[in-house]
Amino acid sequence: MRAILLIKNANVIFPERGEIFCTSLAVENGRLKLLSDVKELPEAELCVDASELYASAAFLDHHTHVFAGGSLIGVNPDVYAPQTGCSALADAGSTGAANFRSFYATTVVNSKTRVFAYLNVSSIGQLSENFPENADPKVYDEAQIRDLIAAYPEVIRGLKLRFDKSCVGKLGLAALEGAKRLASDLKLPLVVHVANHPAAMGDIVSLLGKGDVVCHFYQDCCEGILDDKGNIKPQVLQARERGVLFDSADGRFNNSFAVIERALAAGFTPDIISTDMIPEYMYVPGMFSLCYDMSKYLAFGMSLTDVVKAVTCGPYDSLRLPEKGRLYDGAEADLCLFELQDKSSFIFKDFRGKQQPARNLIRPLLTVTAGSLTYADNSLLWSGRLTASWQANL
Ligand SMILES: [Zn+2]
Repeated sequence: MRAILLIKNANVIFPERGEIFCTSLAVENGRLKLLSDVKELPEAELCVDASELYASAAFLDHHTHVFAGGSLIGVNPDVYAPQTGCSALADAGSTGAANFRSFYATTVVNSKTRVFAYLNVSSIGQLSENFPENADPKVYDEAQIRDLIAAYPEVIRGLKLRFDKSCVGKLGLAALEGAKRLASDLKLPLVVHVANHPAAMGDIVSLLGKGDVVCHFYQDCCEGILDDKGNIKPQVLQARERGVLFDSADGRFNNSFAVIERALAAGFTPDIISTDMIPEYMYVPGMFSLCYDMSKYLAFGMSLTDVVKAVTCGPYDSLRLPEKGRLYDGAEADLCLFELQDKSSFIFKDFRGKQQPARNLIRPLLTVTAGSLTYADNSLLWSGRLTASWQANL
């Protein structure tokens, strides 16, 4: 069988080993082939000369809101994901027991982009910026939550709680304890929004265990991961030791450059880099897309392999899909190609006005989702890098 796509001589990133090799890749029958021997390059319908470009397993934006037709904060997955190198997204609690089925029928099955979900413990999910969901464990629809998890195990990969004063009111830690009890009963990880939270950070992370996820941990709007001296709090370090994962979920207001700088200097890098994408933030400076956030962490000195790991292996490990987010012979073909622009006058700014000059900027060029081409940048065509076999045969 002829390959549908051949990518020649790319710098291919293997983040789990911290390595980058120049090699070629083919997509054939929905699967990936790594081709180190140039004599073995197959015939392909489309061919990309990828010299000096980078190839990686396609990215996964692990904190997004994509219930486009059923909430006020939903981005269309296929409009957003492929253009930023993503073949998959995780929806962070836009739906709960009352509306997950509608999300599944309208969005999950109708998107080329793979959509995973963290089911909100609150039945209505997170539908609007102005209408917080009630996260009181007394009003959980627990039987329905159990039914959904049994019916959609491939999509619902965990539970989500917004541990935010607007959702939990005066309940404090009891709301987190309730969500954690349910997640443990169901043997699922709990993803916790920790911003505008009604309890101490140390007490919050102490309730979490292996596989649970803390979101927005570089925020400085309220008490965070740093102590008065700017050191990482011991309970936060202990949580990481236990296997609690830390997801940047940067958003517009949850990524203080002062906190990022301190935390990275202390070696506290994100397990996962994600955006918290909603329509108001897409393509707006200060957020823009996943590649914007990735480029920002490069500017703060993270290595390219570590940044790529935080959008491939990291989020797939959180979804308990360790075979995904990696490039190997025979893997399902989810990959992306990007350019690393190295000389730029671009300056990142956080919402407090603190600046960070860019080092390298990631420009997404091509995305393959489950063996199909879902995005190609015009520049590949204009530069003559992208060619089709039908032209060669004329
Ligand atoms: Zn969110």
